[in-house]
Amino acid sequence: MKRTALVTGGNRGIGLEICRGLGRAGLAVLLGSRDPKLGEAAAAELRREKLDVRGEVVDVSKAESIEGLAGRLEASKISVDVLVNNAAVYPPGTTLSMTEEAIAEAVGTNFLGPLRLCRTFIPGMVKRRYGRIVNLSSGYGSFAEGLGGPSAYCLTKAAINALTLQLSTELPAFVKVNSGCPGWVKTRMGGDEAPLTAVEGADTMVWLATLPDDGPTGGFYRERRLIPW
Ligand code: NAP
Repeated sequence: MKRTALVTGGNRGIGLEICRGLGRAGLAVLLGSRDPKLGEAAAAELRREKLDVRGEVVDVSKAESIEGLAGRLEASKISVDVLVNNAAVYPPGTTLSMTEEAIAEAVGTNFLGPLRLCRTFIPGMVKRRYGRIVNLSSGYGSFAEGLGGPSAYCLTKAAINALTLQLSTELPAFVKVNSGCPGWVKTRMGGDEAPLTAVEGADTMVWLATLPDDGPTGGFYRERRLIPW
């Protein structure tokens, strides 16, 4: 049975490579982008590789944009089996120096967006008895690794890890919820010095998004290995 995956922030960076990886794994991919033109261009690039990809506009920081997407998918009778919460922002500043705008943007995009997307699409997964959620996290969201990085980013990545664990305790095991850290990846967010390619960063996320029925839930993974919270 062909599964359908929604990947947020799929127009570039790690998200685009997650879309490519899931397309190559045989899934139908909804490539989420807040900018319709960028999303359509990225989806067209993947379609040239004969992958089953369609662009969908979604700004994860806006509840009405998520509702709009859900409405359009329902009208087209498309169910989301796999949700990859990839979109994120990385605003600068320490806890005392960050601006109110930075706090609002990071909380809205990196935490509330994924939370709303989970609340929107998980009920259908439970009904259909199949679901995979992948929450993109970071070593900066890991207590075991000492958090670190810009404050609004690390606080919201720690929060998305909490969301992963909490959901995994509430959901049946056929809806698997895991966090993934892609490592330090060369993208607009990661910068030019990063050692990993976006394809390498996407690998663990594609693996988590396509876990078999006896695969794990409620964990935090890097390079396909369990890491401590
Ligand atoms: P990136 O190159 O900066 O790409 C971020 C993506 O998120 C872009 O597609 C961007 O869209 C999208 N986005 C931002 N705000 C959005 C919103 N409100 N609604 C919808 N889309 C939005 O970042 P990346 O390096 O690929 O990071 C992908 C994920 O990996 C993130 O969750 C990040 O925290 C995590 N991560 C990355 C690294 C790293 O070293 N790169 C390390 C650890 C974790 P626009 O093009 O419209 O801006």
